[in-house]
Amino acid sequence: MISPDLSDPLTGPFWQGAQAGELRVSWCAACDRAVWYPRARCDVCDGRLHWQTLSGAASLVAWSEVSGPLNPDFDTPYLTGLVSPREAPYIRLVTRLVDCCAADLRCDMAVTVRFRALQPRRGAAFIAPVFTPA
Ligand SMILES: [Zn+2]
Repeated sequence: MISPDLSDPLTGPFWQGAQAGELRVSWCAACDRAVWYPRARCDVCDGRLHWQTLSGAASLVAWSEVSGPLNPDFDTPYLTGLVSPREAPYIRLVTRLVDCCAADLRCDMAVTVRFRALQPRRGAAFIAPVFTPA
């Protein structure tokens, strides 16, 4: 795991947003929709994208408890999940689920964003958006 590069033109604004306590996704103004994962241009209309701050309200789509060395840079166990933001339910954000256990989770349950420092074994700590049951 390499810690995110906050100066990367494609993904830096996402990580800068996390440091500022904001959940940001790339957005096409012409299509008025999120474009995820970030890319240089809209994949539908080829328009320019900007970064849109979302409310942090989302719905849980799927989750898994990681108990083995999937990524040796992070201690296990932890919960990973896919969430769909309220403002863009057609996209999925890969995230961590915190302050809960797998038994607490249900499909389509309301979750909300939090921001946590993650410390990989290699590289610098960084702030990441994570989610918890609302
Ligand atoms: Zn577009």
